[in-house]
Amino acid sequence: MSNIKAVIITIGDELLIGQTIDTNSAWIAQKLNAQGIDVVRRVAVGDTREAIITALDEEWLKASLIILTGGLGPTSDDITKPLLCEYFGGQLKVDEAVLAHLKEIFARRNRPMLERNLKQAEVPDNCTVLFNKMGTAPGMWFEKNGKIIISLPGVPFEMKHIMEQEALPRFKTRFTGDAIVHKTVFTAGEGESYIAEKIAPIEAALPAYIKLAYLPDSGFVRLRLTAKGSNDQQLEQETAAFQQQLVALLGDIVIATEDLPLEQLLGKSAHKAGLTFGFAESCTGGYIGHFVTQVPGASAWFKGSIVSYDNEVKENVLGVHKSTIENYGAVSEQTITEMAKGALKALNVDYSLAVSGVLGPDGGTERVKVGTVWMAVANKEKVVTKIHTFFYDRERNKEMAAKMGMLLLWKFINGKL
Ligand code: AMP
Ligand code: MG
Repeated sequence: MSNIKAVIITIGDELLIGQTIDTNSAWIAQKLNAQGIDVVRRVAVGDTREAIITALDEEWLKASLIILTGGLGPTSDDITKPLLCEYFGGQLKVDEAVLAHLKEIFARRNRPMLERNLKQAEVPDNCTVLFNKMGTAPGMWFEKNGKIIISLPGVPFEMKHIMEQEALPRFKTRFTGDAIVHKTVFTAGEGESYIAEKIAPIEAALPAYIKLAYLPDSGFVRLRLTAKGSNDQQLEQETAAFQQQLVALLGDIVIATEDLPLEQLLGKSAHKAGLTFGFAESCTGGYIGHFVTQVPGASAWFKGSIVSYDNEVKENVLGVHKSTIENYGAVSEQTITEMAKGALKALNVDYSLAVSGVLGPDGGTERVKVGTVWMAVANKEKVVTKIHTFFYDRERNKEMAAKMGMLLLWKFINGKL
């Protein structure tokens, strides 16, 4: 089968007024793309009958797969289910499996089931139920004239669960389209312009069926090769060869050839070496600890983070000398060095990372300007310090400080400092 064209329609007034950011369609698009299904359009509409029907009528012509999210809740503003039922000419009927699941949920929560909750067990008799283990609104799968329409709840974790457990596996067996191969080169420390200049010869040599995408994010650039074709073995080999050429040409700025977040790469490196690490976080307020604990199994390598925001904590918990802070300031190479050494001891870890800075918008001085962030990594043998100057708002400065901190630690653990 040739390439499947998909459209994503997200439903909800909250999306149109910007109260909820539409993360569903981005997530779905990534998943479909990874399976070789092309998303040709993403549409957001309000919770009105007219808007939803117009979107369906229009997109029906362009796509062989339509994925809807939202509008499946128990409240009166959620109208997707009866509307789809009518659109495809069916009748709402209680689904016994869904009803049993709802009863179980309400019993577990020790709450009475209301009439409106019972209604959630009703599904159109012309759809296949996509069971929702994570919530009360079932997903639905309709087919008409060789086209597929599925409707999923708006709540992101419920939507993701149904996609992963129910929808994506079915797409795989239904759409045996082109093979698709993705390869990533994850770089740090140079911008996309520099990279584009450097790899221009490789880019020029790519055949039409292998595309290169630049995905920049907070000081990092992911290069993603996507190849499509009929011979998956050949695609795999060819793409791997281009990936290797990129790695060879980009040299030191390459930190991984896997498409994993930095915190996971960091965890993997530590785990492989059988090491533990921990942090002393001032300006990042525990944010780096948050990142590394996103990775399942983090307790094997991460011991903890001391949020040493106040100088008193830097002194009392980390053992930073009062005189160091008085003489050099809390944001200085001297203080960050003592913070990193203190964390190494207090947390009893093999490697520590310390971060202290002025994120803004105020708090800068003549000596320490807004955006200045000192960081240090330490083990028993040595301490390496680094200063950064960020120019963004507080939120993004914090993000950068956290990411650059993790990068510094990753380099240290991998013997690149
Ligand atoms: P609904 O299925 O319409 O009742 O949606 C329930 C909740 O899911 C909404 O209140 C939003 O917080 C969230 N939600 C709905 N659509 C989206 C979307 N496209 N992206 C992210 N969250 C969403
Ligand atoms: Mg809604």
